[in-house]
Amino acid sequence: MTSPERSHTCWDLAVAVAVHHAGGGKLARQPVNHEIFQVSTMSALVEGILDGDTTYDEVMRHGDFGVGTFNALDGEMAAFDGDFFHLFGDGSVAPVSPDELTPFCAVTFFSGDAEIDITESTSRDDLLALVDGTVPSENLFYAIRIDGMFSHVTTRTVVRQSKPYPSLLRASGNQVENRLDQVSGTMVGFRSPQYVQGMTVPGYHLHFVDSERRRGGHVLDFAIESGVALIDRDVDIHLELPTSEQFLRTPMNADDVEQQIEAAENVSHSG
Ligand SMILES: [Zn+2]
Repeated sequence: MTSPERSHTCWDLAVAVAVHHAGGGKLARQPVNHEIFQVSTMSALVEGILDGDTTYDEVMRHGDFGVGTFNALDGEMAAFDGDFFHLFGDGSVAPVSPDELTPFCAVTFFSGDAEIDITESTSRDDLLALVDGTVPSENLFYAIRIDGMFSHVTTRTVVRQSKPYPSLLRASGNQVENRLDQVSGTMVGFRSPQYVQGMTVPGYHLHFVDSERRRGGHVLDFAIESGVALIDRDVDIHLELPTSEQFLRTPMNADDVEQQIEAAENVSHSG
């Protein structure tokens, strides 16, 4: 049996060695093209770990494009062209302030490798099937950007939670849903492999911001009339794990994590 003191000492040593090998830690890292930088995991959100210790100032150094949320689950984040938007539960949109903290987000430096022109009315499922048919493998990550005129976009926006924090599934039960009709704007996000269950959202995870930068949220459904979808293949992923006591001590072995992520991310709760 290992004594707590002994394992603590070994852990400190392991951390010290890792930091030394990384050449001084986080600040030494340079932005890498085709790399996704992700903060924390979906499993942690599912368990109600809704406060992170990573600032958006740090996140912005690792990408100009992506999706995420904020501490206390206070709204959705969407970023593209280096502009980071904070989409609040009351429907308002504000620029992300660099000192805001995130419990979960994923960003990359976006550059389109493939393009799909949309010239006729296309449903979400049909467009995503087209993207599926374009990507070279199910087993890589892709950043997806869709600009265009949408006949409708159904979004939801999580709202600020208070402590003690509920699970993601309970928190998403009182999310605000919104249907935008005949709206132009930009949809951003990722297509992730099925094997990342628990780490991120498998399949598509998309957020929307309208052209006026006044409305948006996490995308549940849409149909697009015309536009362009760009696909950026990402071949590396950097996972920035929290070091909070809550993250370190919370068991993350829920055997229904797959269903909880699906229900929280993809299911409309207003019927
Ligand atoms: Zn989302």
